[in-house]
Amino acid sequence: MAQKTNPFETMLEQLDAAARIAELDKPDYITLCYPERELTVNFPVKMDDGSIRMFTGYRVQHNMVRGPAKGGIRFHPDVDMDEVRALAAWMTFKCAVVDIPYGGSKGGVTVDPATLTQDELERVTRTYTAKIVDFIGPQLDIPATDVNTTQQMMGWVMDTYSTLKGVYTPGVVTSKPVEAGGSIGRREATGLGVFFVTRELAKKLGMDLTKSRVAVQGFGNVGSNAARYLHEAGAKIVAVSDVSGGLYCEDGLDIPALLDYVDKHPRHLIQDYQQKGIELRDNHGILTGEVDFLVLAALENQITEQVARETKARVIIEGANGPTTFGGDQVLEERGIVVSPDILTNAGGVTCSYFEWVQNLQHLAWDIETVNSTLERIMVKAFHEVYEVSEKKKIPLRMAAYIVALQRLVAVQKIRGIFL
Ligand code: NAD
Repeated sequence: MAQKTNPFETMLEQLDAAARIAELDKPDYITLCYPERELTVNFPVKMDDGSIRMFTGYRVQHNMVRGPAKGGIRFHPDVDMDEVRALAAWMTFKCAVVDIPYGGSKGGVTVDPATLTQDELERVTRTYTAKIVDFIGPQLDIPATDVNTTQQMMGWVMDTYSTLKGVYTPGVVTSKPVEAGGSIGRREATGLGVFFVTRELAKKLGMDLTKSRVAVQGFGNVGSNAARYLHEAGAKIVAVSDVSGGLYCEDGLDIPALLDYVDKHPRHLIQDYQQKGIELRDNHGILTGEVDFLVLAALENQITEQVARETKARVIIEGANGPTTFGGDQVLEERGIVVSPDILTNAGGVTCSYFEWVQNLQHLAWDIETVNSTLERIMVKAFHEVYEVSEKKKIPLRMAAYIVALQRLVAVQKIRGIFL
């Protein structure tokens, strides 16, 4: 059996490679090689049948030199400390790339939520929140949604925290439902940010989106919204996949119809979707098909060295966190395949979470025009900053994004110094 790639090791390899190009010495960025604080919690939850089941959850704050930590909560059977550590670190770099005043964190519970009833899911979410309650807070660490966690669940996080602290605290968590202090536009923001970055990159590469073929792996929050905006811009979405399988249509999938289908599906899956001209494809087929843009919006470690050798995509768009292994990345570079890196590409989500937090702290609500135009301005600016470094130093966009982030992080660390 192939050894599981440790995503935290991937992050360290990326960081060291970028630091070498930026001519930074290890002491300049040593703090970024270690998570600041880590918490593991084991907790019991009463199941609907009266039995007690134990769960394990994590919260990692990687670095808070630029502000309170920010990072989602993932519910997935593969969640472990190494994964949460890596995801927390990527949040630190992501917030620095788009220059919003946050550090990075992440949390998770090792569970497949599909095995829980809605009441059990609520109890797991609330108990996990209660167990980490002193670790989070609007000026300390602010969770949000991630894989398999929903806006409703963030509503429970907010309620649990507010109840235990005795103070209504909407700013403790973002990606809440709009009715409970969430920001309009947050649900779509990551996918919209993916679209802005893809559009800007296409222009730089002289590619016409309206003549482009696109495959999207993962059709959850990020993938479905990225597909929606790319489709609206005229791109042909020829393939999509999710945990239930993959669909391929040479003439392009009817994305509005598919979105409608997924919205009504009890588990929000593309499973059993049927239309004329659609063929079924497995995960490998989606990753290696003939497309201009391959949007990755599922999980880590999808583009391994093997897949990198086989993929026919011209450009890889990392909507997911850590979807490319370090070795996979090297093969893509050798083959001249452009990669739009996660810490830039999917930063639209945390950027809109930042807007939500600002609105909560100021007790006001922005309208959708303000949200989307501010998001566009920040994402486009970040893209061009990264692209410029990449051109100037003749390095891949991932290394350029790390360098932009590293320069900001190292500068603040130097100003703040080392406490004692
Ligand atoms: P989600 O739970 O809404 O969707 C995940 C999707 O991936 C689902 O469609 C699921 O079926 C699919 N999937 C899971 N395993 C798969 C497999 N083996 N093959 C194909 N598809 C598979 O999660 P999301 O919020 O859309 O997050 C997706 C990725 O984007 C994650 O890496 C997450 O960390 C990252 N991300 C999310 C946000 C956000 O705002 N939600 C922001 C930045 C980054």
